[in-house]
Amino acid sequence: MNKYIETVYNKLVEKDPDQKVFHQAALEVLESLEPAIKKYPKYQEFSILERITEPERSVQFRVPWKDDKGKIQVNRGYRIQFNSAIGPYKGGLRLHPTVNLGVLKFLGFEQVFKNSLTTLPMGGAKGGSDFDPKGKSDAEVERFCESFMFELYRHIGQFIDIPAGDIGVGGREIGYFYGAYRKITNNHGTGVLTGKGGGWGGSLIRPEATGYGVVYFVEEMLKTKKHDIKGKTVCISGSGNVAQYAAEKCIQLGAKVVTLSDSNGWIHDPTGITKEKLAWVMDLKNNRRGRIEEYGEQFKVDYSTQGSPWSVKCDIALPCATQNEVDGKEAKTLVDNGTTAVCEGANMPTVPEGVEIFIENKILYGPGKAANAGGVSVSGLEMAQNSQRIFWNREEVDAKLQEIMKSIHANAYKTSELFGAKGNYVIGANIAGFLKVADAMIDQGQYA
Ligand code: NDP
Repeated sequence: MNKYIETVYNKLVEKDPDQKVFHQAALEVLESLEPAIKKYPKYQEFSILERITEPERSVQFRVPWKDDKGKIQVNRGYRIQFNSAIGPYKGGLRLHPTVNLGVLKFLGFEQVFKNSLTTLPMGGAKGGSDFDPKGKSDAEVERFCESFMFELYRHIGQFIDIPAGDIGVGGREIGYFYGAYRKITNNHGTGVLTGKGGGWGGSLIRPEATGYGVVYFVEEMLKTKKHDIKGKTVCISGSGNVAQYAAEKCIQLGAKVVTLSDSNGWIHDPTGITKEKLAWVMDLKNNRRGRIEEYGEQFKVDYSTQGSPWSVKCDIALPCATQNEVDGKEAKTLVDNGTTAVCEGANMPTVPEGVEIFIENKILYGPGKAANAGGVSVSGLEMAQNSQRIFWNREEVDAKLQEIMKSIHANAYKTSELFGAKGNYVIGANIAGFLKVADAMIDQGQYA
């Protein structure tokens, strides 16, 4: 490893030794930037790597809320405002018991590069809490969200920081956050959150955007090999927002989706999840808030709490649940089973060993920060519509999303070629995302 990169990496590990998942994300990016750092000495001269790996601001706060029994519970809330060189901070809020500073630093760091790739002017941020919405009543979730916003409202704004959803934060939670923001500030700040409801400032296609975008990215990757998605067998993990709409788009394009999962287990439906079965899953997950195990009972297919969807033979694998959900062994199984494309709906779902296996075996591998950028892209389009006080129809937003995904793919592909690693989307996406932010930081002087 280049000496400069090694020093920066060692220092960040030394500073925060417990933030393992952040170290993993930082190392993956730093290593892949080596050709750019060599080619352009200015990045070392201006200490760009030291600056870009340090969040501009991290806010941590107490979130007390009353449960249904009247007892006050306390969670920890965060907002990591990582980098605003190219636009206001932008990134989701995650509600999950595993949330901590290290997890959000990893997600905020990834978001900086992802947002840069979208072609839209957005900086990177991430936030959330160790609150678990699972098993909570609507009233409890509402009280939590209100309490969270009592602190968050002072750190956000349409020209400052615009949060959105992530794991555990869908339309219901965004509604409660927005209602609280409006009440606290007496301001209909439509541009302050994205993922809003259609009747109060939300964009059409925002719920679908991340999942659809992943599939548009897969199509672009397949085109480089003169293939398409029609007739292909697809394994998907997760059954939340990203997984649901990735499955929907695959089905629309004539592929066969055979797996879904949640944190308890996974189902294998060898005949394929149809449009009707997927509608049933959406109702199960979004309204009844049930477990994927029920799919197995309803449609008489295998449900397992052991192993993962990656043991099933498929042409395309779309990890859409969470970080580090594809380990080295599973990556090897996918390769051995003849999988030709792996495209990440989730953020950093593949461990570094798995990424290496995909690249060595020339699998078409779309890393999350390029492949799942459709969600934040349509969030950016939601902001654009809010600023102009207009609404675009579904076709307009979907066409813009497709255009953005094509451009992200082309940029990552072209950059990989320019830096001597044709078809390596990790190098292409990381360097392309980095150059724009790093140059903006240099242009804006020493405090950027
Ligand atoms: P959801 O909360 O809607 O769904 C998450 C899914 O992943 C659920 O099925 C959940 O199961 C499963 N899951 C969560 N944690 C784990 C775990 N530790 N082990 C196994 N399964 C798990 O979230 P999203 O669909 O929005 O997000 C999924 C991924 O996509 C995340 O990595 C997120 O950062 C990324 N992403 C999301 C975007 C968006 O627009 N929503 C944009 C870009 C990336 P269970 O219900 O049992 O917890």
